[in-house]
Amino acid sequence: MDLRAELALLRDFGFTHLDIAAQESELEILAREASVCTKCKLSGTRTQVVWGTGNPNADLMFIGEAPGHEEDKQGKPFVGRAGQLLTDIVKAMRLTRDDVYIANVIKCRPPENRNPEPDELEACRPFIRRQVELIKPKVIVTLGKFALQSLTGKAHAVSAARGQWTEYEGIKVMPTYHPAYLLRTPSAKKEVWNDMKKVMIELGMSA
Ligand code: URA
Repeated sequence: MDLRAELALLRDFGFTHLDIAAQESELEILAREASVCTKCKLSGTRTQVVWGTGNPNADLMFIGEAPGHEEDKQGKPFVGRAGQLLTDIVKAMRLTRDDVYIANVIKCRPPENRNPEPDELEACRPFIRRQVELIKPKVIVTLGKFALQSLTGKAHAVSAARGQWTEYEGIKVMPTYHPAYLLRTPSAKKEVWNDMKKVMIELGMSA
């Protein structure tokens, strides 16, 4: 589609140039704020803040737990082994990483890849909340327990919550397993694929 047609389509959907520019710059401002954040102890051990990546106007947002070694090094979420699996899941949905938005509930790597601690989740929560607010996805997929709990406050085990729609601030949320779990338990991949089919249907894609 050429630029003129794309802008006409966006206008038909109620967007204007300014809406889009303003939204992107707010996200950028927030990312800049986060890049110097010292609200929790992870700021003392990180190499850099891992903010988020992808389409800031995405219909679909994936939310994971926290950066690992590779993410801390590259400054991008889900670029290690678990990230490759997430990329494969996105591709299987006939999408690319540039079509979706990918972020974590914790923006800095916990040392030795330990679990995030309650004070760290608490300190970082305003960032993911505002990110969601600005991106306004139609559907959020939470990957693993910490993403589900930190975003929605629901303390269910992922094995019980996965595959069932829940909601955050009026946005449909599909909890599923974390890709790192799938690396350890490949037999769970089919359950994740079933969850992604529900997401595709919700987004009006054929599954
Ligand atoms: N695991 C996550 O939850 N997030 C990443 O960015 C990488 C691995």
